[in-house]
Amino acid sequence: ETGKDRGMCQEAVDFTKINKNLLPTVVLVGRPNVGKSALFNRLIRRREALVYNTPDDHVTRDVREGIAKLGDLRFRVLDSAGLETAACSGSILDRTAGMTANVLNRSQIAIFLIDARDGLHPVDMEVGKWLRRHAPNIKRIVAMNKSESHFDGSDSLVSAAAEAYKLGFGDPIAISAETGLGMQDLYGALRPMLEDYVHQVLKDEASEDNIVSQDSNSFEAEESKLPLQLAIVGRPNVGKSTLLNTLLQEDRVLVGPEAGLTRDSVRAEFEFEGRTIYLVDTAGWLQRTKQEKGPASLSIVQSRKSLMRAQVVALVLDAEEIAKAQRTMTHAEVVIARRAVEEGRGLVVIVNKMDLLRGKQNSTFYDRVMEAVPEEIQTVIPQVTGIPVVFISALEGRGRLAVMHQVIDTYEKWCLRLSTARLNRWLRKVMSRHSWKDQAAQPKVKYFTQVKSRPPTFVAFVSGKTQLSDTDIRFLTKSLKEDFDLGGIPIRIMQRSAV
Ligand code: GDP
Ligand code: GDP
Repeated sequence: ETGKDRGMCQEAVDFTKINKNLLPTVVLVGRPNVGKSALFNRLIRRREALVYNTPDDHVTRDVREGIAKLGDLRFRVLDSAGLETAACSGSILDRTAGMTANVLNRSQIAIFLIDARDGLHPVDMEVGKWLRRHAPNIKRIVAMNKSESHFDGSDSLVSAAAEAYKLGFGDPIAISAETGLGMQDLYGALRPMLEDYVHQVLKDEASEDNIVSQDSNSFEAEESKLPLQLAIVGRPNVGKSTLLNTLLQEDRVLVGPEAGLTRDSVRAEFEFEGRTIYLVDTAGWLQRTKQEKGPASLSIVQSRKSLMRAQVVALVLDAEEIAKAQRTMTHAEVVIARRAVEEGRGLVVIVNKMDLLRGKQNSTFYDRVMEAVPEEIQTVIPQVTGIPVVFISALEGRGRLAVMHQVIDTYEKWCLRLSTARLNRWLRKVMSRHSWKDQAAQPKVKYFTQVKSRPPTFVAFVSGKTQLSDTDIRFLTKSLKEDFDLGGIPIRIMQRSAV
């Protein structure tokens, strides 16, 4: 091998310059209490939890996601909901396992945490088996957390390491998520794995240079600086004003059942992580909802106007009402959710007032709501999979980060532009997976390109007499969503004849 080749392969990657969508994904796995959250928080350098789904008396947790910074490394990090399958049993855990498998599929690297003080716990072995079965190809790093009191090289650390080695996932590294010790070793273990991934992706991109790319990066950069237009919609009394206060982090909006509060002081704009968020029509719904008495209803006309002006629509539901009623969404709520998607808006569903379902006597309600809402949304809007659902308590002032991260994530996916080169490489892979109904009449997709973003819209150029069937289009849509992580985004695919 020549020096030149080696130079190319080993070229150092500047992770700070890589498009967020191309960053590798690292998932944190391990049994409960090994310190996944602690490590997650350290990596994303935020004290607050991203997702508020953790009432004190439940093990239920949502998947948290963030962009990790470790020295000059950047990667997407996922805190798996805990491989609680092995440790416990019950419906939440089955669900969690399903979710975790889904998370594993999106990740290239797993950091497997164990508790250094306990050595190798039987449940760790279960988790290891689980990981091997569900993600045989994922790269793994075993981290012995809570090692801070053993950094003097004590025997207990050595014996814990010897035990951890039995997992068969290579040399364990000692860390302490809480104190930050061992982070340089974690860096050392991660760097080559992350670089491999990035080199692979860049190589794949570069190998497609014969097709003219329609990317317009400067335009994209311009776009992302514009304020994000967010509409918060929902029936009266679900907690929109309360949520707004939480988002604004100041008591500009008066909350309560009284009618006729001053609306003039509502400043429907705020900053979140350097981005300007503009709240669409807030004054409008405040006036209307506060005057409305009688049966709680949602003005479809009003909401429709709002969502036409928005890029992301946050539909707020009331957890207590869901728990009491047999159905998750009223007809009006379903209409709004569907319309948001049909109009090509990004949709985030917020289930508010989760605090009312806390406590032992409510635990079945709590679980039912957590389960029923995502399921029902999937049923009523089958064309868009993976619509994010955030469970919050606006009254307790919690959920701001969870809501805003989902909103921004949805917005960024909504704005996403994929290069033609990358799409065509993807197309070739995906078409070989597709089973055609009639082999002989199989349409040939010559190439595939994204014609616009906001929302992502694609054109498939088809040659020959046959057109893509609805099934083919659905298959392509589904694959695009899975492969480029576009859950919750309304994607459009059109077809044209290629000459
Ligand atoms: P998870 O269930 O795996 O997400 O675990 P958590 O992050 O919630 O941590 C479980 C417990 O271990 C918490 O009480 C943490 O404060 C504690 N913990 C996490 N990391 C460390 C560490 O490095 N050292 C020590 N001593 N405790 C830790
Ligand atoms: P809006 O009509 O959708 O703007 O709803 P409001 O924000 O005015 O809230 C309606 C009522 O629900 C008020 O009495 C709030 O205090 C209450 N509320 C709002 N959010 C929560 C929550 O998270 N938990 C509980 N328990 N009550 C809430």
